[in-house]
Amino acid sequence: MTSTHTEHTGHDHHHGDACGHTAFQHGDHTDFAHDGHLHREHSGHYDECEPSGHVVCSGHDHEHGDGCGHVAVRHGDHVDYVHDGHRHAAHAGHYDDH
Ligand SMILES: [Zn+2]
Ligand SMILES: [Zn+2]
Ligand SMILES: [Zn+2]
Ligand SMILES: [Zn+2]
Ligand SMILES: [Zn+2]
Ligand SMILES: [Zn+2]
Ligand SMILES: [Zn+2]
Repeated sequence: MTSTHTEHTGHDHHHGDACGHTAFQHGDHTDFAHDGHLHREHSGHYDECEPSGHVVCSGHDHEHGDGCGHVAVRHGDHVDYVHDGHRHAAHAGHYDDH
């Protein structure tokens, strides 16, 4: 699947091991939770790691919530849970792959 390429312009911070932002594995790359945005490095700049379209995570029998054991990161107006290298967001009774 192709993801949209949205460069975060004017990003003068370099994410890394000790930068203080929550880092987590997202598929084949690392995302950093940065002020409600999720940033991934790309060719020397940072992209907004945004989902392309609506992808329902099927067969999800786990309920994410406080204390569920997964890392929760704020993503705009909702929360994503880091789940086995995916980001899951609650949506209308199911979870989306974000
Ligand atoms: Zn950072
Ligand atoms: Zn950033
Ligand atoms: Zn990502
Ligand atoms: Zn969970
Ligand atoms: Zn999300
Ligand atoms: Zn999940
Ligand atoms: Zn959905």
